[in-house]
Amino acid sequence: MIREELKSLLLSFNEKDYFENVDLHIHSCESDGKMSPNEIAEAAKKKNKKYIAIADHNTIDAYLSTNVLREKMVIPAVEFDCYYKSIVIHIIGYGINIDSEELRPILSENKMGKKHLFYRLLKLRNPKEVIERIHNAGGIAILAHPACYPCINFDNFINELVNYGLDGLEVYYLYRYLRLLLKFRSVKTIKEIADKYNLIKTGGTDSHGRKLL
Ligand SMILES: [Zn+2]
Ligand SMILES: [Zn+2]
Repeated sequence: MIREELKSLLLSFNEKDYFENVDLHIHSCESDGKMSPNEIAEAAKKKNKKYIAIADHNTIDAYLSTNVLREKMVIPAVEFDCYYKSIVIHIIGYGINIDSEELRPILSENKMGKKHLFYRLLKLRNPKEVIERIHNAGGIAILAHPACYPCINFDNFINELVNYGLDGLEVYYLYRYLRLLLKFRSVKTIKEIADKYNLIKTGGTDSHGRKLL
């Protein structure tokens, strides 16, 4: 799928889609999830999902080691660990060309950098470079779970990422289940900022387990 097509597709999804038939944030056993990429695709079909994305930490092995992309419902993705000032932020690239050389320097070569939080924190990436490389690989860059970052001025933070080329915010996210203690803004605030900067609103469950949330 070319970049503009993916952008239109993402813009066509609404809040209801993200809680019913679209899940663009799932982890497989190639990072710290429990299901294989093919098990995820099967589980998604059973749940009547129309589109899903496996967004593993710092790796696209889910796509390189399986034929899961043959499923029309699967959008290729990857979630990168980055730093912004003194905080750790996650940026997801969607629709990236998995054969692109662009991503190679920012992917993790070792297993620990995909699976274990401690090792992941040893190699944090520059968000500007990550966004540029996602774009050069044909993808769209989205800030994952934006309410989780303890920045003092949220508007400035998003503005700076937008200047780097950020395309959207993961507005629809299960904070209730996953990150209740790490939630610094309301979904309403995030929606307002997304509208202010004309950003794409995406969503996903961040499922890591044997079942899709
Ligand atoms: Zn994340
Ligand atoms: Zn995640």
